[in-house]
Amino acid sequence: MNERIQELLAGRRLSFEQWRRLLAERQELDKAALFSMAERERRRWYGDEIYVRGLIECSNICKNNCLYCGIRRDNRTVSRYRLDRDTILACCEKGYAWGFRTFVLQGGEDPGMTPAWVAELVRSIKQRWPDCAVTLSLGEQERSVYQLWFDAGADRYLLRHETADPAHYGMLHPPELSLAHRMDCLRRLKEIGYQVGAGFMVGSPGQTADTLARDFCFLQDLQPQMVGIGPFIPQKDTPFAHQPPGTLEDTLVLLALVRLTLPRVLLPATTALGTIHPQGRELGIRAGGNVVMPNLSPPAARDKYTLYDNKLHTGDEAAEHLAGLKQRLAAIGCTVAVGRGDFPT
Ligand code: SAH
Repeated sequence: MNERIQELLAGRRLSFEQWRRLLAERQELDKAALFSMAERERRRWYGDEIYVRGLIECSNICKNNCLYCGIRRDNRTVSRYRLDRDTILACCEKGYAWGFRTFVLQGGEDPGMTPAWVAELVRSIKQRWPDCAVTLSLGEQERSVYQLWFDAGADRYLLRHETADPAHYGMLHPPELSLAHRMDCLRRLKEIGYQVGAGFMVGSPGQTADTLARDFCFLQDLQPQMVGIGPFIPQKDTPFAHQPPGTLEDTLVLLALVRLTLPRVLLPATTALGTIHPQGRELGIRAGGNVVMPNLSPPAARDKYTLYDNKLHTGDEAAEHLAGLKQRLAAIGCTVAVGRGDFPT
């Protein structure tokens, strides 16, 4: 096994230069050994338990114009929607009956989902299902808004940093968005008391060993409770329509390295990974992942929440097929955990 992986395991920390070299040579790593180390690390903290989160895609309206994202403002081909409160509560109700104890409310930065409206929604969910966790993934907001939602009962917040390299961030985003602001948001969320999730796409245009080394240094410093990483997948109506997607192998290697860097991290095998390979999610778990996020959105919304092309939304990806997911996990020696699945402290 590569000596730098031993260094990583020993100290849980590498310097920027060490990361850069390890990441530049990542194709040459012994992958089977790397994945089994990551899986062993996951089992040390979580045994055979995998956490499920019910994903509710609240709105595909977005004021931002991220170059990779299919629901960017300038994409006129998207049919826009915003779920109303009762629809979202009905999704939770179904999800609760199926066994979900975390609901993830994700969406574009939709000015129509006002801070007060979201706060009231969070309060309603927590009131009706007090044994559930609510995770929000609603982009960059004022500190006071994050505080309002936390006070309403939100437990966790997912805000991928996308890349920790400022120049790369500039290639992926329009000029009005900045890495500095995104990072400020993540730090604020942490200060307020949320369990936070950072993360990035694998194989995004312009990503290099250098930018990835910055990502790993940032994760080491931030120590997020969750990390979301999945392959970049082009969406046909974006400026990146003709860019190549991230690969399965590379995503698995990076998932394993995240598990070794942050041993207790909640690490989803993402929908994007399931989209590029039929066994993507199982392979993600075998590389150290321990969360899956089936889709609880109403089918009409799923069709319109098109972050990238061919996004999975039927089969075992859909929350209604939890039994199928359980079988697939059982086949790789895992069970679905009951309960909220908080970060172990
Ligand atoms: N508006 C929220 C939620 C964004 S969607 C926010 O800003 O956090 C959630 C994640 O989907 C993004 O953080 C991004 O990393 C990922 N994503 C967007 N477009 C993608 C694409 N083309 N391929 C793969 N992942 C994508």
